[in-house]
Amino acid sequence: MSVALFALGGTISAAGRSGSPRVGAVPRLTGAQITAAVPGLAALGVPLDVRDAQAVPSADLTFAAMLDVVAAAEAAVRDGARGVVVTQGTDTLEETAYLVDLVWPRPEPFVLTGAMRNPTLAGADGPANVLAAVRVAADPAARGLGALVVFNDQLHAARWVRKTHSTSTATFASPDLGPIGQVVEDTVRVLARPPRQPPLTRAGIAEHLDATRVALYTATLDDDGALLDVVAEGHQGLVVAGFGVGHVPSALAPRLGALAGRMPVVLASRTGGGPVLRHTYGAVGSETDLQRRGLLNAGLLGPYKARVLLRTLLAAGAGREEIADAFARHG
Ligand code: ASP
Repeated sequence: MSVALFALGGTISAAGRSGSPRVGAVPRLTGAQITAAVPGLAALGVPLDVRDAQAVPSADLTFAAMLDVVAAAEAAVRDGARGVVVTQGTDTLEETAYLVDLVWPRPEPFVLTGAMRNPTLAGADGPANVLAAVRVAADPAARGLGALVVFNDQLHAARWVRKTHSTSTATFASPDLGPIGQVVEDTVRVLARPPRQPPLTRAGIAEHLDATRVALYTATLDDDGALLDVVAEGHQGLVVAGFGVGHVPSALAPRLGALAGRMPVVLASRTGGGPVLRHTYGAVGSETDLQRRGLLNAGLLGPYKARVLLRTLLAAGAGREEIADAFARHG
């Protein structure tokens, strides 16, 4: 049985313009070219069904494009593929992987990977990542884990993974959980099976994405909140990346409360790991104050993933109670 591989661009597919690395690499290699350059891949004996979905920097990927890939991947597994691999840029991979995880309805592994060093550089990591990703996608041990990021011979659950370094080949980490498995020589070792929420129904989401815009606002030192209303303008939801356990300058609290009366406003932490608390601090702008003003608590979901969840829920037509309930479960 084959693995369906979708190529979406990114560093893993980059080639220098006119042969000079100084001119800047752009995504241009096809899926067939990417896979042809992987030592040991043919010897795995896993037939690949390679498709070129897009060749873009991952900054240009969209929710709609990823939902199209999920639909094509679901058709591929219905036709007999034992797993799915997506190659894409790493910059937005923690978001695309989480979006896929929210809606992936199948037990077959859906693995996302990429590269930090492009194929023209010494020590390019794309080939090793593709080999590991195909191994995982083809392995029955990885079934039922939802979307996975396989990188640097580690398996990360999409729900928990983050890009933590701008250049390191060990950039992907799951600060609150750790990797859930490893690729060791030619075997896949799954070490943990974190619980996964039931998938959201995909139907109807794509059609409503244009009308469901979710802004992300990061609280900063000495922030007077002047930008807040401008950021929220024209949006149907807002995620606030607060300090530490979910705090903002006191000047922002009434503004956020007013916005929470108009749209769902979700409070996350800008720290990159750990939860938003619920009942520890009481000052104006603290987590208890903001929750009292109507903000929803993102729990252990970081701001980027909270934004993916909120936009997906809004596009699916969820109301306030459903959104609050979803954040209580997913956070
Ligand atoms: N800028 C690239 C992208 O996300 C980085 C990468 O692929 O690692 O497309």
